[in-house]
Amino acid sequence: MHPFTLERPRDLAAALALRAQAGRTDAPAEYIAGGTDMVQLLQEYVRRPERLVSLAGLLDNRIEAGPPGLRIGAGATMAEVAAHPAVVERFPVISDALLNSASPQVRNQATIGGNLLQRTRCPYFRDVGYAACNKRAPGSGCAAIDGENRWHAVLGTSENCIAAHASDLAVALVALDATVEVRGAGGSRTVTLNDLYRLPNATPHIETVLEPGEVIEAVTVPAGAAARRSHYLKVRDRASFEFALVSAAVALDMDGPRIRRAHIALGGVGSKPWRVPRVEAALPEPISIRRRSARRRRLPRKVRRGTGATTSRSS
Ligand code: SF4
Repeated sequence: MHPFTLERPRDLAAALALRAQAGRTDAPAEYIAGGTDMVQLLQEYVRRPERLVSLAGLLDNRIEAGPPGLRIGAGATMAEVAAHPAVVERFPVISDALLNSASPQVRNQATIGGNLLQRTRCPYFRDVGYAACNKRAPGSGCAAIDGENRWHAVLGTSENCIAAHASDLAVALVALDATVEVRGAGGSRTVTLNDLYRLPNATPHIETVLEPGEVIEAVTVPAGAAARRSHYLKVRDRASFEFALVSAAVALDMDGPRIRRAHIALGGVGSKPWRVPRVEAALPEPISIRRRSARRRRLPRKVRRGTGATTSRSS
């Protein structure tokens, strides 16, 4: 592990000021909150900050639900959000996505903000023994394009990077039209979660629209009938502690047996959580619950349950 200095600022404003001094690329300072992803990156020499600025205890960790919707402080843990009664009852796709992520130990430690900003699981990114990785070392190439890439993205890729986005939670939140409150040394702003993530294009090392030093303060999710009738389905190589080969977050606003409005986002297959507006537009009207249930009964049991490896893909 590269030696670093751990800074423990007294409050968030001090943390923002410290981090704002650093640049976007190969920054000499990085944030650390729960640390579940950052510590892995440090151990593997993927990140080599000179300073780590701790956000532990500085981020809002409240979970508040009211008529307009849900607000989740970025410092809340994955486990706290997954088990919150309002999330389970009114936004089940969020709870499903979190409980299908990582392990209980990780969920007890990892923050919501950290989950949304976790780095890709591309093995070439996480192993510095491979020199070619444009995301880790801009301009070095991409080992995955001609390498082992069945876990990689097939949507939103570029000739510079085909890494898949890793967060299950982000897929659920994008389906529900969530926004994030962002705060930096210069003030606060709001960004839709869909717009937070950038496609790789020519700069895969720049993954979000966050400015240097900005943090996610909270996530806001609008309430609605679709959010109440929502689910997250994930297909992966093993039943726990594994990232998605493909996943779907689906939220349906129903009018009796008919779909009035569908919200669908895919995970595991895109460079970012991937909304499918043409599918959403095609679902209402002609497809009834009864017909879809009949189709579902014809699916293999593993697909219905969302467990086990039922498919593989390559880019
Ligand atoms: Fe690096 Fe992206 Fe290529 Fe993976 S897919 S090796 S993260 S450039």
